Amino acid sequence: MSTLRLEIVTPERKVYEEDVNIVIAKGVSGELGVQAGHVPLVTPLKIAPVRAKKGNSEELIAVHGGFMEVRTDKVVILAEAAERGADIDVSRALQAKERAEQRLAGKQEEIDHRRAELALQRAVTRIQTSGK
Ligand code: ATP
Repeated sequence: MSTLRLEIVTPERKVYEEDVNIVIAKGVSGELGVQAGHVPLVTPLKIAPVRAKKGNSEELIAVHGGFMEVRTDKVVILAEAAERGADIDVSRALQAKERAEQRLAGKQEEIDHRRAELALQRAVTRIQTSGK
């Protein structure tokens, strides 16, 4: 099976760079499965784990929004933050989830509500990605 290069980059560092067979990501208008030779496109991403499949193995990477650019033999994801499963501090994510849930349960301004929802999505994505 042919491969394509997957790069995941944040303003701080290159989080991921591997040749993979399939990239599965959650675009704002639905899930996308990308293989070599896919039509070029650019889409904003949801806060969700990205799945990189190589042979029989699959790795998850937490990607916190941003954009995915698909080229013929390359996928580049640019996001404000991203982490490989092994780099995720699960207890930190559980604490962030707890804080966000408490904020959502309390009375607050609309803008804080939206921020808490995004923090909750980041925390849940990290917990899912770490697989714990
Ligand atoms: P927290 O409230 O725990 O800081 P957050 O969602 O506000 O979480 P971000 O602003 O998304 O954190 O990320 C700030 C930096 O910390 C980024 O570099 C991100 O990769 C890293 N980071 C955040 N949470 C975790 C985690 N649970 N494990 C590993 N790295 C994390």
